[in-house]
Amino acid sequence: MFYSNIKISMDNCIFCKIIKGEIPSKKIYEDEDVLAFYDAAPQSPIHFLVIPKRHIKNIMELELSDQNLAGNLLVRAQKLSIELGCGEKGARFVINCKEYGGQTVDHLHVHVLGGRSFGWPPG
Ligand code: AMP
Repeated sequence: MFYSNIKISMDNCIFCKIIKGEIPSKKIYEDEDVLAFYDAAPQSPIHFLVIPKRHIKNIMELELSDQNLAGNLLVRAQKLSIELGCGEKGARFVINCKEYGGQTVDHLHVHVLGGRSFGWPPG
């Protein structure tokens, strides 16, 4: 039951389809574990997503055994943000989670938003 639920969510997951090439994306970076691509509805001049290739629903699903993967996601987000010109002025790195976090796609992703300033606290 548990495994069939995972399969159902992967089959319907937009980001898994992007990973498999079934949905087009503007790819920025790819390796064995991680994919980065531009957000389809950018909220800033630079807005891209960094995702694990393995289907993980959200940050609450990470295990201690995922430490390397979680580190890869974060460091890759940082490296790409610098490559895309955010190094000097910085950027907003965001991980939304579930309903209260405003997550709309149930596949873990790091948003990187650059090219403008953001306020705090969030609304
Ligand atoms: P979140 O609300 O944190 O779950 O963010 C999901 C993000 O995925 C939103 O910023 C969407 O604009 C973005 N998104 C949804 N579908 C696509 C897609 N096919 N290609 C690129 N970005 C997408």
